[in-house]
Amino acid sequence: MANPIVKCAVDQCTHYMPGDQCMAAKVSIYNEETSGNSKKSQDTECKSFHHRKTMGDMIGAFHNANIGGTLSAAFLDGTQVTPVVECFVNNCKYWESDNLCNARHIDVSGVNAAKTTDTDCSTFEEK
Ligand code: SF4
Ligand code: SF4
Repeated sequence: MANPIVKCAVDQCTHYMPGDQCMAAKVSIYNEETSGNSKKSQDTECKSFHHRKTMGDMIGAFHNANIGGTLSAAFLDGTQVTPVVECFVNNCKYWESDNLCNARHIDVSGVNAAKTTDTDCSTFEEK
């Protein structure tokens, strides 16, 4: 199954881990507009973003946490942790049926993000 390595710079997210890794078990990339016609990466978003405000939020995020993978991969043997990616941006050149992404890796960005629409899949390229 196609699944890109996720590199994420959104350090305001509860799933963010130093090293620009994402510790979510799964992330969902969407068009910001429900019309579903992203023209540029800023039109896309990571719907799995969860704003890190309090410790309560940290705990709340654990329902979607790749804890086993995080501990074994990131801390013990140093390999990259990466979530399963589902993507609904079907006019991206990397999109594949069944909501898969066939890019080798994706970059998720969003400086000082406070909501999902502040995040982007920077790897998006219009088909
Ligand atoms: S913004 Fe998305 S890709 Fe980045 S850490 Fe959060 S859930 Fe993971
Ligand atoms: S590169 Fe394209 S297909 Fe892959 S997650 Fe980003 S927007 Fe979706």
